Amino acid sequence: MRQSSLFTKTRKEAPKDEVSKNASLLIRGGFVHKEAAGVYSFLPLGLRVLEKISNIIREEMDAIGGQEILMSSLQDKNIWETTNRWDDSVVDVWFKTTLKSGAVMGLGFTHEEPLTRLMTNHINSYKDLPVYPYQIQNKFRNEVRAKSGVMRGREFIMKDLYSFSRTNEEHNEFYEKSKIAYMNVFDRVGLGGTTYITFASGGVFAKYSHEFQTISDAGEDIIYVDEDKKIAINEEVYTDKVISDLGLSKESLIEKKSIEVGNIFSLGTKFSEPLGLNYVDEDGKTKPVVMGSYGLGPTRVMGTIVESLSDEKGIVWPKSVSPFDVHIIDLGNKNEEVKKHAEEVYQELKSKGVSVLLDDRNTGAGEKFADSDLIGIPTRIVISEKTMQAGNVEVKYRSSGETVMISEREYIDGLVAEPANNLSAINRNKLAG
Ligand code: ATP
Ligand code: MG
Repeated sequence: MRQSSLFTKTRKEAPKDEVSKNASLLIRGGFVHKEAAGVYSFLPLGLRVLEKISNIIREEMDAIGGQEILMSSLQDKNIWETTNRWDDSVVDVWFKTTLKSGAVMGLGFTHEEPLTRLMTNHINSYKDLPVYPYQIQNKFRNEVRAKSGVMRGREFIMKDLYSFSRTNEEHNEFYEKSKIAYMNVFDRVGLGGTTYITFASGGVFAKYSHEFQTISDAGEDIIYVDEDKKIAINEEVYTDKVISDLGLSKESLIEKKSIEVGNIFSLGTKFSEPLGLNYVDEDGKTKPVVMGSYGLGPTRVMGTIVESLSDEKGIVWPKSVSPFDVHIIDLGNKNEEVKKHAEEVYQELKSKGVSVLLDDRNTGAGEKFADSDLIGIPTRIVISEKTMQAGNVEVKYRSSGETVMISEREYIDGLVAEPANNLSAINRNKLAG
């Protein structure tokens, strides 16, 4: 893409009412637009990042048997009354809206109820189980505070997968697999080293749920981390009894602020019983389906990456989620030959499948470099009179700040487009096993 045709503009200052670092940088870089507190629109650069994150999640969910669907946001009140989750005194984040007829509908904050009902049309026998539908879809929550940028939206995107199994045993097997798939996602988006599987409150059917918490001062949660065992306990369940039940010791647990990037739940038959989702087992008996739910927020992950990996100059995207692989800075404003050459390099890289943003704007070098640091593409290539004469390109890596002069031919020939599917081999084997 040519930057001269990108309609978004970078800006030096974030809006005054934006207190979070992630939204400030994302707005300044032209990734998102703030519509209202907790409500953001995604612009071309931001959408590219969001789709890359979503695709990584999609690949990992497909790898454990997920089947993608897309459900409606508008929700039928009756079904939520069946499970006692319609009343605002029970669920305090509902957005509700009134039809012309006077009937009220809700805007989905999660989808256990409608999906359980939907599945009654498709699950009858043990032969129909297990099954794992998921979606990547807008959720609505009337959050009291929305000061964490895209990490806490009133409208946001969630990947929600639901598991439907015959028995607790079959459920547990999938539940453990999902933990590996989730850690694969966080590894692949660059948050692997700072994200911990965390014991959290489990609700009625399970002792615990498991959260995926990324250590960050921008976090709203407090967890206690065992760095050797790579697990943590959420403060909401942090008691002497839980610590000893988990075989941990207080001395090795460190208090940290963290961001909840994912949460998985064992639901037992909490939804299948009231909504009549049953199956006929091999023994001819009718039994309720055993369920689980598995949430992960692509928009919150995007904010978490910015919080975790930015510096004073701007964002530092990991290659896996960067809007482009390479940022070419064309310094040929006053030199047609340099401009022409930058265009040739751009075309050649594109033909190799490398995604490129070409800064061909008619602006000064200082502004181009500052914008490039702000936008945060991992590799920047400068093409100028000087580099051209030497047959070189100047390559600068955003994360290390390291700059190297290298033969242009060597550099281009050495670049290989990232394979679309780069699932970690180790984790892939774990899943297969
Ligand atoms: P929190 O405690 O932060 O409000 P939650 O526990 O209510 O979150 P879940 O219902 O577990 O959230 O949702 C599953 C996932 O969806 C979360 O782990 C997070 O990644 C994402 N998510 C939840 N609420 C929001 C939000 N308001 N904005 C962006 N992402 C969210
Ligand atoms: Mg949660």
